[in-house]
Amino acid sequence: MRRLVWIAVMGAACGAATAQVSAGLKPFVKVDDATVVLQHVRVIDGTGAPAKDDQMVILDHGKITFVGAQTADQMAPAGAKVIDLTGKTIFPGLVGMHEHLFYPTPDRSPDLLPLYGEMADSAPRLYLAGGVTAARTTGSVEPYTDISVKQMIDAGQIPGPKLFLTSPYLEGAPPIGPQLHTLTGPDDATRTVDYWAAEGITSYKAYMHITPEELKAAIDAAHAHGLKLTGHLCSVGFKEAAAMGIDNLEHGLAVDTEFDPAKKEGVCPPVGPTREAMAKMDVEGPEIQGTIKDLIAHHVAVTSTLAVFETFAPNLPPMSEAMRVRDSLMPDAWGSYMTTRAAIAEHANTSVWPRLFKMEMQFEYDFAKQGGLLMAGCDPTGYGGVVPGFCDQRELELLVEAGFTPEEAIHIATENGAKWLGEDQRFGTVTVGKDADLVVVDGNPAKDIADVEKVDIVFKDGVGYDPEKLRESVRGLVGLR
Ligand SMILES: [Zn+2]
Repeated sequence: MRRLVWIAVMGAACGAATAQVSAGLKPFVKVDDATVVLQHVRVIDGTGAPAKDDQMVILDHGKITFVGAQTADQMAPAGAKVIDLTGKTIFPGLVGMHEHLFYPTPDRSPDLLPLYGEMADSAPRLYLAGGVTAARTTGSVEPYTDISVKQMIDAGQIPGPKLFLTSPYLEGAPPIGPQLHTLTGPDDATRTVDYWAAEGITSYKAYMHITPEELKAAIDAAHAHGLKLTGHLCSVGFKEAAAMGIDNLEHGLAVDTEFDPAKKEGVCPPVGPTREAMAKMDVEGPEIQGTIKDLIAHHVAVTSTLAVFETFAPNLPPMSEAMRVRDSLMPDAWGSYMTTRAAIAEHANTSVWPRLFKMEMQFEYDFAKQGGLLMAGCDPTGYGGVVPGFCDQRELELLVEAGFTPEEAIHIATENGAKWLGEDQRFGTVTVGKDADLVVVDGNPAKDIADVEKVDIVFKDGVGYDPEKLRESVRGLVGLR
């Protein structure tokens, strides 16, 4: 479906300078020429290589057709739109690997059910505005809405990233909320996996209370369909899941329960004591290093979600970061976020999160440096304030805080995710032949990673979207729709 737009363009108007975008996309599009020449631009190519200054990049009918040093005598193709990007930088569109289309509904008092509202309008636009051009949904609460949204994006009817749909959560008992199905055993796990494969989802997400038997059955069933499974686990430890053949673990060390001495086989232990036990450990010690080696040996990828973890630590992110999301949230959602944030700040001196957060960063750095496939995601959950698009940019900043170079952080958030998806021949780096999925920002993220927030244009399949127009169109809607 995605190809239709371009086939139409090429068939109908060979040599015409203007590409066609639908009426649904038009209000958000800044550049819709079939051939675009980006001149004098700094390129961070997504491979982890250092940034290169003064490059020229040509986009033609949705593909990257030239990347190289700018020289004075270069001729732009006839009819091309030429854009001078002096002082600006491009990097590959982000490949977000934990990009739910939902958000916690505000004002959750303890006597109300924990519900997550589907953000079918705001999430796709905000991801795209933030530079995310491909997104794995990594756990669904409204799978048929996710499927419909993907179909509309692929048909060019609404703006949004290329979606890679994940199943509804494969959750055991008790489920974390009423929107989830509760598995009744390994046979039910297999049946559920088969069902969602038939509906067209392309990866699975296991959740905190799944039993070891259900998890093993789900992994085997997913692999029988040629599909992968990730997990935010609790009842099952990381090494145990690696031995079963799991493909990916979400969040990293902070949710691994295998170091809790009180943990019972197959049971998710109470979260407080587990975290306190972990906070006493040393990431460089033999136990955690052993887990890192074990995950790498079993080719288990890890998805970093530092942007949601930092909200559990007192007074993070800095208020300047928090304020960036304010206009996108409905007022009640902003109020809920600020109330919980203030409560966390009040208990700052007893919180284990400042320590756990540093440990998580160290774990992710060590895992990647030793050869593990580290990917990046948003995870717009927690108690709110973690908002699609904004959180993906924040994630890059936090990866740099963890010790990665800006180029490495961008590599983690682009090519690594594309590899896991099996799409690295199609996107994830600024390379000739790949989809023209690029983020143009003011400044130089290789010097100051915060410049990734200064998005000027987001190209997806060669169409350049205006981040301001995307954001403005869903102003105040996060938490609502
Ligand atoms: Zn999640």
